Amino acid sequence: MPGKLVRSSRIGQALLGDPSDGIDPYLPANGNLGYRVSRYDLTLEYKVSTNRLAGVATLTAATVRTLGRFSIDLSSSLKVERITVNGKRPARYTHRNHKLNITLATDLPAGGGMTVVIKYAGNPKPIRGQWGDVGWEELTEGALVASQPNGAASWFPCDDHPSSKAAYGISITTDSPFMAVANGVLKSKRTKAAQTTWVYEQIEPMASYLATIQIGSYTRKTLGTKPVPIHAVVPPRLRRNLDLDFAKQRQMMEVFVELFGPYPFPEYSVVITDDDLEIPIEAQAMSIFGANHCDGTGWSERLIAHELAHQWFGNSLTLSRWKDIWLHEGFACYSEWLWSERSGGPSAEAQARKYYGRLASSPMDLVIGDPGPKYMFDDRVYKRGALTLHALRKRLGDNDFFDLLREWTREYRYSSVTSADFTGLAGKYSPQPLNDLWHHWLDEKPLPPYPVF
Ligand SMILES: [Zn+2]
Repeated sequence: MPGKLVRSSRIGQALLGDPSDGIDPYLPANGNLGYRVSRYDLTLEYKVSTNRLAGVATLTAATVRTLGRFSIDLSSSLKVERITVNGKRPARYTHRNHKLNITLATDLPAGGGMTVVIKYAGNPKPIRGQWGDVGWEELTEGALVASQPNGAASWFPCDDHPSSKAAYGISITTDSPFMAVANGVLKSKRTKAAQTTWVYEQIEPMASYLATIQIGSYTRKTLGTKPVPIHAVVPPRLRRNLDLDFAKQRQMMEVFVELFGPYPFPEYSVVITDDDLEIPIEAQAMSIFGANHCDGTGWSERLIAHELAHQWFGNSLTLSRWKDIWLHEGFACYSEWLWSERSGGPSAEAQARKYYGRLASSPMDLVIGDPGPKYMFDDRVYKRGALTLHALRKRLGDNDFFDLLREWTREYRYSSVTSADFTGLAGKYSPQPLNDLWHHWLDEKPLPPYPVF
């Protein structure tokens, strides 16, 4: 029974925060033990001209063991002004190296409710790491947040681990007439004097790195209404380019819904910043592109498909550990090839052959099922991850392969996932064991022979 298989693999997975669980070895400084956050309420004020952020964060959590001390991730660039836990001041706290360590006056029992309120302010700046600068970043006029993998603490206190998924309420007040966009559905917009408050509600569970705020001189345009509203948030000067570069956004959505199952969120937005960006960025129910991706030439169509695919693979289904990054990037890359195939471009087979050739002449010193933190965003993880799916598709045949993708997104909707979850589910669709396929493509360094079946 398929359902049984899925459930048993979930039971084997320790809850993050449980004492038997560990912190991700790829990001050992991030994430925290002893509690689980179910909701963040962020009430923020941001001054564009001075890059000043002030906020009150309310974390609604539950303890998973008796708790006398616990930690929260928060950038050292932000200064904490006040903390309460269940309405009381803690005995003491320290804040250094992007970590807030809180000691309670009285222990909290296991399984108890915990409400942490943190008032803080400062000049947010990105968190520097081996993947460059991530998190809150000032634009020429405005701000953006691009946190993958560990930038969330640059702008709010959080349990910064991808398997720590929670609901969010985000209220952001900034200078009029700037537009402020955050994850979720816009619930209200209020202008008072020279400031506007935007209130968003994100009810589907979200990993902290996918939480975002985008502020700029933008206008909003609706690109489509089915199956969900699709919005573009764009600087007025780029509106004409938008019509050319994002002309196929709606068809892309239709094709991916057909191939992957229902789009997982109530809306989808693309934000185009007035500045150039090196690469586009995924956030929950939103993708962020630079002005350079919207130059009227259509060159970024592949990237537009890639980012949309992350809404299923990465955002609804989110890795439990960064070592399984191919579950995000391999799938998003394969979605580029699928879009190409479905929109009259080169077939997935042609793309697979092309990139197989490139991989064959690249160093084979990576295991894509566990590439190591330094190489987790290496292009070989993307391309070989996509080729792994292509090999699987050839083994299963199109009908079963796409049925599997739809069952994957349905069974694990809004969940945390591992490679074993996917390979376990895929096994159901094959009369023969698939172990050799996974072993050669995911666990070994040499490139396996090109898949022919
Ligand atoms: Zn990606």
